[in-house]
Amino acid sequence: MHITDIMRGDSPTFSFEFFPPKTPEAAEVLYQTIRDLESYMPHFVSVTYGAGGSTRDLTHDLVERIKNTTKLDPIPHLTCICHDEGEIEAILARYAKSGIANILALGGDQPPEITYDKSRDSFRHAIDLVKFIRQFNDSGAHHDPRGFGIGVAGFPEGHPATPNRLVEMDHLKAKVDAGADYIVTQLFFENRDFLDFRERCALANINVPIIAGIMPITSMSGLRRIAQLAGGAHFPARLLRAIQRCENDPEMVKRVGVHFALEQCHDLLDNHVAGIHFYTLNRSDATRVIFDSLGIPRRRKAQSAAP
Ligand SMILES: Cc1cc2nc3c(=O)[nH]c(=O)nc-3n(C[C@H](O)[C@H](O)[C@H](O)COP(=O)(O)OP(=O)(O)OC[C@H]3O[C@@H](n4cnc5c(N)ncnc54)[C@H](O)[C@@H]3O)c2cc1C
Repeated sequence: MHITDIMRGDSPTFSFEFFPPKTPEAAEVLYQTIRDLESYMPHFVSVTYGAGGSTRDLTHDLVERIKNTTKLDPIPHLTCICHDEGEIEAILARYAKSGIANILALGGDQPPEITYDKSRDSFRHAIDLVKFIRQFNDSGAHHDPRGFGIGVAGFPEGHPATPNRLVEMDHLKAKVDAGADYIVTQLFFENRDFLDFRERCALANINVPIIAGIMPITSMSGLRRIAQLAGGAHFPARLLRAIQRCENDPEMVKRVGVHFALEQCHDLLDNHVAGIHFYTLNRSDATRVIFDSLGIPRRRKAQSAAP
């Protein structure tokens, strides 16, 4: 369903993020997670996009598999890096043919293990990709006359590449004005940062829905991984203190992390958030505990049709 229709319906939205598995064992875990989460009928699920050919094919395959074998509505991520126009056009055509309704358009980060010449990329920033998808939409190549719905990333705590926060907001505004329909944020642990970001967006006349990205901490290694993946993420002292108290007890760390994320979600709902996007890391347990504890009624009964 086009994102503007999704956002116009019952709100707030709830959505889950997966990444394409690289091994058969990891694929099994993911498909079990999808089965577990399907009955929650999220408004959409999204699938991340890496750098490098084989990982990218895994994204396309997973998106189409979710679309064809479940009741879930997948939104693929697409990035600028390591792509030229022809490649992006082919991917858009493939997704349009598969009935994919929305794309999350991103700059993408260069993974350290891949060396490549950035000057050969057709798109420098996510805004260029947004404009290109708009052009594709205008060409009428999508069965929906509106074409793909387009999402972009937002960074409540700021993106490390642009330390000037006023200039950064100008870039975000330009990206949205180029044709984005919604924003999904980077994960954050301090709701104040999100609420302030939302206010700053309103002041900048950015009026599209802003979906909050939430990632529960479920282990000490997960905490370190989050710090690495979400460069610049701020970990509040009260969260670190609570985790430190039980750092030698993995089960307790998980409970603390999930409880913290649950409190964040309650507060976001009280503050009329447009949507909550759960970074699941392909596991369902933490997301299910949070979801169940929020008291949100299931949207409708889903018959399991997981892959
Ligand atoms: C919800 C979410 C999902 C993500 N999924 C993925 C994924 O699947 N795969 C992946 O590789 N990465 C993913 N990322 C990471 C993201 O690609 C990186 O953080 C990237 O560095 C920034 O992406 P962006 O789309 O905001 O890029 P951009 O909008 O291009 O911004 C990147 C930086 O460039 C600056 N900038 C923007 N426009 C201009 C301009 N015209 N001139 C100068 N500077 C400019 C911005 O201020 C910012 O600092 C995701 C991030 C989020 C928040």
